[in-house]
Amino acid sequence: MARYHPTDDWLANYANDAIDRQTAVLVATHLTYCPQCRKTVRYFEEIGGALLDEIDIDAIGASADPFEFEATAANDLTPPADEGQSDLPNGSMNEFVPRPLLRYVFDRLGTTDLEALPWKFYGPGIRRAVLFENADGGAIRILRAQPGAVFPHHGHGSEELTVVLKGAYRDETDRFDVGDVQCVPEAVKHQPIIENGEECIALVVSEKPTIPTGLVARLFQRIAGA
Ligand SMILES: [Zn+2]
Repeated sequence: MARYHPTDDWLANYANDAIDRQTAVLVATHLTYCPQCRKTVRYFEEIGGALLDEIDIDAIGASADPFEFEATAANDLTPPADEGQSDLPNGSMNEFVPRPLLRYVFDRLGTTDLEALPWKFYGPGIRRAVLFENADGGAIRILRAQPGAVFPHHGHGSEELTVVLKGAYRDETDRFDVGDVQCVPEAVKHQPIIENGEECIALVVSEKPTIPTGLVARLFQRIAGA
């Protein structure tokens, strides 16, 4: 069971399709590991649905997203292992990457084989492959690091979100295992170190998530004011 979760704001915005694509991919991936957050998303979906007529969704910035269908599938309580993968080719990522993300990787890169990803050197024992980049510098990457690899102590140009897909790492704050979501704010510097014994693979989303502030507050304000 994951110990680190997306915030309620992320889950609420995800439930109401008011979240940027990068963060939606990450949240959907976490949901496949986390019954607790799936429950929370359903709760927000119910609230959002009930109040849909009262809220100006266009003003919030909801957008049609090709990822939406897969993300919705991830909200289901069915464990990812029970979902068919027959429409995706076999690859080494099929064994440990949740289906919504696996589908996204295949759509972007045409493969689900870890070795076939467009890896680029990031540091000794550390490589990254870009899945998606936008003009503002936001990106979705898969990160692959060898056991014991030490990252340079680094800050971020924007908030950085990570969900662990395989293995585990530690930094100054704690240990992060499969399914855990770490959010490192823009101002914070850290130095992840991969645990010994197993390589670590993670999904990393960088960009200040374009989450409209206060959606949760607005929803509850509506309820209180009703
Ligand atoms: Zn969770």
